[in-house]
Amino acid sequence: MYSAFLIKYAEIATKGKNRYLFEDALVHNINFQLKNVDGKFNVRKEQGRIYVETDGEYDYEETVAALKRVFGIVGICPVVLVEDQGFEQLAKDVIAHIEEAYKDKNFTFKVDARRARKNYPMNSMEINAAIGERVLEAFPETRVDVHNPQVLLRIEVRPKINIYSVEIPGPGGMPLGTAGKAMLLLSGGIDSPVAGYMIAKRGVTIEATYFHAPPYTSERAKQKVVDLAKKVARYTGPIKLNVVNFTDIQLYIYEKCPHEELTIIMRRYMMKIAEHFAQESKCLGLITGESIGQVASQTMQSLAATNEVCTMPVYRPLIALDKQDIVEISEKIDTYETSILPFEDCCTIFVAKHPVTKPNLNVIKKSEEKLTERIDELMKTAIETVEVINCEPEE
Ligand code: ATP
Ligand code: MG
Repeated sequence: MYSAFLIKYAEIATKGKNRYLFEDALVHNINFQLKNVDGKFNVRKEQGRIYVETDGEYDYEETVAALKRVFGIVGICPVVLVEDQGFEQLAKDVIAHIEEAYKDKNFTFKVDARRARKNYPMNSMEINAAIGERVLEAFPETRVDVHNPQVLLRIEVRPKINIYSVEIPGPGGMPLGTAGKAMLLLSGGIDSPVAGYMIAKRGVTIEATYFHAPPYTSERAKQKVVDLAKKVARYTGPIKLNVVNFTDIQLYIYEKCPHEELTIIMRRYMMKIAEHFAQESKCLGLITGESIGQVASQTMQSLAATNEVCTMPVYRPLIALDKQDIVEISEKIDTYETSILPFEDCCTIFVAKHPVTKPNLNVIKKSEEKLTERIDELMKTAIETVEVINCEPEE
């Protein structure tokens, strides 16, 4: 029923040269998301606007769902685009739009006309009044409410006339590819996929690293992480996933260090290795799903101890969120069901009964000295034997 969508995006950071980068990235990302949708689409820029025009039959629901995954889009407006053929024709087109868009005509409305093309013979006030009158005549059940209308009927006179009244919220954020790259430490849990999604939403390209510990963690645990990466990739585009075999490092720490410090020491080595891959791929930071106080390894003291090995900024978008808030986002982005599948991850297998909750950095460093003999060699091997999996968006 609609042949086009008007795409609204935020005005922030859209000044000067950035504006073009922002819009071009948006057009590129819209095309990427529409690739697998049934239908033919033409995405074009026009005077600070983006239109998605359709050519022939297309799947409306799928199209809207795809557009809702494009970061940077604030609103998706199904729009009727008509040539200017005089006021009578415009009034007819507006009435046809209402006829189709609203089954129940018992609503209040307000006409909001804009004359972007100044040679149009009526000004916006005149269009408002004249169209309002025609709508009331055609649908006597409707009423005008200029303060709090249920339907805001927009008529914009541009090269073509735009008629629309529905705005479906987009995800917001910034277009992917406009903010550099970061390395996500992706586990099979609920938190890290959400963390990756949130940073990507700010325009950041995502790569990921997963530490697995065969045979303590199963092939299915690894597959679960791949599946999560594919789910996140629906929003971010393909994710390069580094799968690091962490078993020997874990066993070595287990053998040499006090067990209550295992998790912290292990986390420090994870960060170091992730940072190695991050530097290799020219990432500007690391991302984790940590949140203050969630578990022993995420107290402020533990976070400080983990953070100490990193030279890159570590982005922790969930740091102040409650678990319930994180769960809600994971449900929204459809990672929750996969995250709760019961395959052990490498942290749960080596956890001590009473892990330190307030690690002292000097004590931790002292324990790590017991690893000097072999740790460099083990890290080197872990890095050299990395398995790289390209995770394409799940269909
Ligand atoms: P998640 O739900 O993301 O697994 P969590 O609540 O289980 O998090 P931890 O196990 O303490 O918390 O992990 C904290 C963060 O460290 C994770 O969010 C993730 O970014 C990273 N991390 C933990 N385990 C791994 C792993 N095996 N591979 C990669 N990153 C990991
Ligand atoms: Mg976890």
